Amino acid sequence: MPITRRAFLKTTAGSAVTLAWSGAHDTASAAQSAATGTPPGARLRLLRNATSLIQYGGRTILLDPFLSPAGALPAFNNTPNPKPNPLVALPMPAAQVVASADATLLTHLHVDHWDPVARELLPKGRPVLVQPADRERVVQAGFTAVHVVESSLTWEGITIARTGGQHGRGEVGQRMGTVCGYVLTRAGLPTVYIAGDTIWCPEVADAIRVHAPDVIVLNAGEAQFLEGGPIIMGLADVLQVVQAAPAATIVAVHLEAVNHCMLSREGLRTGLQRAAVRSTVLIPRDGEEVRLA
Ligand SMILES: [Zn+2]
Repeated sequence: MPITRRAFLKTTAGSAVTLAWSGAHDTASAAQSAATGTPPGARLRLLRNATSLIQYGGRTILLDPFLSPAGALPAFNNTPNPKPNPLVALPMPAAQVVASADATLLTHLHVDHWDPVARELLPKGRPVLVQPADRERVVQAGFTAVHVVESSLTWEGITIARTGGQHGRGEVGQRMGTVCGYVLTRAGLPTVYIAGDTIWCPEVADAIRVHAPDVIVLNAGEAQFLEGGPIIMGLADVLQVVQAAPAATIVAVHLEAVNHCMLSREGLRTGLQRAAVRSTVLIPRDGEEVRLA
């Protein structure tokens, strides 16, 4: 697929910026921001699958916590590679992940985004931000500060807008249920669009058009069952996003962590190179942190 505006875009497909992890409260950038009056910068540390710690405006958001030990959960049913999940360990202890965050953001409640260990370890009074369809189950799990993102809300100076998505096509997509994504904005920080578990679809195109994100986090492991096609993005979907948002930095996650994801990091990297993609597409390793601004 031809990608336009290539002269303006740098080639970094397949690489990621690694920064030292400094914990939930980045004292150096906090001090700098206090001096300049601007909010501290934005960083994303991929832990595993979609689970990430996002430092944004001086707060740390835990996205889609899937904290079980490797192999603790069964393989997803009717999938081509029936191995117990998660396929790999977390890069840091689950308790440390939990201790690092100020709030939890959930795109949906499938077990690879919200698992029993997360429900057990997360403090029940800490904010959990959810789509409307998921409120009741999170409340029933004992959480007392559940905030529903209807169209958008503001938390700690960060505007969080909800976006739509399709977790697969046709009947499989219907069965996967309601999912969402989110857009984080704050003055002085990059606009970050977290697409969630979705394929390329009109909702994703709309989100890009409406929010003009600087950074787009894509779940790109091409998860699928034996029938019905992919239920999250694969190479073709990522290429569609690149074409729709050629100047955005893309961060590809949800790779090599659950048994029904068929696309590897190397497969994605090779595919992007073959397609001569000139946009910035970062494919962090588990535990790797990328600077978003
Ligand atoms: Zn998932």
